[in-house]
Amino acid sequence: MADLRRAPGLSAEDVSAAVRVHADRVHDFVRRLGCSPPAAVEVVETSALDLVDAVVTAPHTVQDVVGWWFGRARALGSRVAGSGQELPLGGGLLSADEDQAVLAETLEVLPERERVALLLRDSYALPAVAVAVALGTDTEAAMETVGRARLAFLQAVGDDDVLPTTGHPVQVGVLARIAEGGAVAASDATAHRHAQACAMCRSVWDGQARAHQMLAGLTVVALPEELRDSVLARVDAQARAYLPAAADLIGFDEEDLVDEPPSRWMVPLYILLGLVAAVVLGTILGLFLSRSPSGGGSATAGDPGVLPSVTGAPLPPTSPLPTTFPTLSGNPSPTVFFVTPSPSPGASIGSNPSPTGAPEPATEPLTLTATDGDGDPGSGPNGSTLTLQGTGWTQGATVTVDYLDPLGRQTGSHATATVDARGRFTTTLSAQDPSNLPGRHTVRASDGTVQASTTYDVSG
Ligand SMILES: [Zn+2]
Repeated sequence: MADLRRAPGLSAEDVSAAVRVHADRVHDFVRRLGCSPPAAVEVVETSALDLVDAVVTAPHTVQDVVGWWFGRARALGSRVAGSGQELPLGGGLLSADEDQAVLAETLEVLPERERVALLLRDSYALPAVAVAVALGTDTEAAMETVGRARLAFLQAVGDDDVLPTTGHPVQVGVLARIAEGGAVAASDATAHRHAQACAMCRSVWDGQARAHQMLAGLTVVALPEELRDSVLARVDAQARAYLPAAADLIGFDEEDLVDEPPSRWMVPLYILLGLVAAVVLGTILGLFLSRSPSGGGSATAGDPGVLPSVTGAPLPPTSPLPTTFPTLSGNPSPTVFFVTPSPSPGASIGSNPSPTGAPEPATEPLTLTATDGDGDPGSGPNGSTLTLQGTGWTQGATVTVDYLDPLGRQTGSHATATVDARGRFTTTLSAQDPSNLPGRHTVRASDGTVQASTTYDVSG
């Protein structure tokens, strides 16, 4: 029987903390995308308020909070930067010293997408999933973009130590990842071994490491001190007004997610919280709209030089990857978030069609089921072959499955599967416990972003 572990949506504190941690980086980011100092501050605040709004009204579109925010800032920033203002970059404007000037000017000559990839991955050290969300792609493609951008960066700074690789297949994305150090993933092992022996791939690998190191030395242009506190305070106030407090999202720590079934009364509580939040939001929004005739304007303002109105305006559908569940970047272990669907308060207000009121692509709920040969979903003898099926997983991700004994120990039985374009996967798992313990075994699956488990009772 499927036994999904669910966690609530993000708390006000989660979002506030992410904004506080990354505010200076987002500011630096949009400055380097061409925003003037006042425009950059405005983009930081607007995009952060939009983030809160998106987490409240369309949480399933926020696959990764930090990546979503950078992606939003990127969209708003390029709109502002493209409005005819003079680029503030170059000429050492963002540079404290000569090294910084070289970095800033080199970044400036790269195409915007490559600049974004390098800033996010190398200069701000964001997780690959956040980079992918900000770029609107998957993590493999994002690392490929990072790798190619690093090679372009080296060329632009006059580093020509990377050997020509014409005609030779080079896994740039894998080398980009390996060059950052740390443990080599099993899926990268073959490319890793090859690159150790291949002069061409080795030189690409070394180049990746050089570029990564140079870009990591970029000085982040922080938000102006006199504005920083007020920007953060306004975002925090909005988060607290619209999102549940962490204290209200009780009872779900990592252990609970893995080992204990959720209490039956908790799910209604979350739905209740979601409804309360929606009613509060709707009331505030209604008051705001009734007092401010311009407040109901679409957030996708036609004039590229004008930032969209912020307060409560539903987000335009620029949200990256509207298919999976939100996670906080940097969360060391994958977690399942149960997303309470909250009615979009903007949908019924005014004559302006709400972008978030449009039909969303259907997202299947996260499921994991295990069935043995006789079709009995929940129990059977030790050593049975289980058919595992899942829905609602991260498209294209690799799901790894572990089979745990009743004491929560690894049995040594594992399986993997690739999630298809519909978010589904099917694989088989040998329910083989060498200790031959009777009782409830756990089938635990993770795709690196979301995680679920189900049980299999071994009859004694
Ligand atoms: Zn090679």
